[in-house]
Amino acid sequence: MRLRTLDAADVSAPKRQDRKRIRIPRVGIVGTGFVGSTTAYALLISGIAAEIVLIDQDRRRAEGHVQDLRDAELFSHHTRIFAGDLADCSSADVTIITAGVSQANSKSRLDGLWETAAILKGLVQDISRHNPHGILLIASNPVDVLTYAAWKWSGLPASRVIGSGTTLDTSRFRRRLAERYGVASANVHAYIIGEHGDSQVPVISSARIAGVPLKGFCGQLGLCDEERALKTIANDTRAAGLEIINAKGATYYGIGSALVRIVRAILRDEEAVLTVSNLVPQSMELGELFFSLPAIINRDGVARVLSTPLNRSEQKALKTSAKAVKQYVAALDRLSLSPREMLKGV
Ligand code: NAD
Repeated sequence: MRLRTLDAADVSAPKRQDRKRIRIPRVGIVGTGFVGSTTAYALLISGIAAEIVLIDQDRRRAEGHVQDLRDAELFSHHTRIFAGDLADCSSADVTIITAGVSQANSKSRLDGLWETAAILKGLVQDISRHNPHGILLIASNPVDVLTYAAWKWSGLPASRVIGSGTTLDTSRFRRRLAERYGVASANVHAYIIGEHGDSQVPVISSARIAGVPLKGFCGQLGLCDEERALKTIANDTRAAGLEIINAKGATYYGIGSALVRIVRAILRDEEAVLTVSNLVPQSMELGELFFSLPAIINRDGVARVLSTPLNRSEQKALKTSAKAVKQYVAALDRLSLSPREMLKGV
């Protein structure tokens, strides 16, 4: 059999001028320290972005990461990676902000609040001016306070200002439950909600393993009194970040993967349910604040924040968590950038 060669008419590839109009998924990463550079690497390996722009006040560092990441291109995915400035975020589908102060010398996520807030205010206002249609994804800590502030500063709808929130804590929680009960973490459905911080709330009452309520699953395993074990798991989850920081100075693999998971849900319009930090629905009567609840994420950002069934003690803990986050917002106000000044929009 002879092979027929294709002539031009057979080829349905877009013409050059059409190609220009094809939307190329671009992700901007502002801040290329531990978290930003790891996120860029995870994004490259995932293959979901066609363009990644790295921005840092230390341009040389961003350029160094670009060269290093390009060396991995042949072994991963063809991706256009370059060092740029905030104007390059004008066509970004998602701009991830990881700029801030290092965790190494911080005792808590609140340390460095003022410094990071001052950095973020300028960045967020510039990015939203350049790109009023994109999505902002904030990782800088304290993430709930800063995502709320970023919403105020940017003038963007809340659905397009998202904090990484407790996506990372939920993964830590699910892994620990999975280890205890001998199943894959993908088969554990359980959430950490509220603050990404000490007041986070593990939701045990509605946790399920392979569709079976946790209590029933424990019964099947002959484990009748799991209260202590679950308390330990919740405490270990809460302390996990600090333990890693004590051991090696910073956390970045987990958060980098969590950020890429959120970006994937956005770029691929997945309608995935993730515990991101977003505006808490008024119906919860917790006041105006951002923290994490399970939310549906699609191409437009947060499509809907879901209400999670909670027992009485979980409801109480969530109220305490809301209070804690609101206190931090008030603290941000007091830290010289006065509340009205600090939270004033663009
Ligand atoms: P890092 O010090 O390694 O990196 C911070 C980077 O931000 C540096 O490269 C710095 O040059 C850059 N930067 C500072 N100001 C800037 C500006 N105006 N414009 C551009 N770049 C600027 O810190 P890290 O370990 O990567 O942590 C970054 C942030 O992420 C911190 O706030 C940390 O607490 C937070 N974090 C959040 C989570 C989470 O779950 N949300 C997890 C880990 C870390």
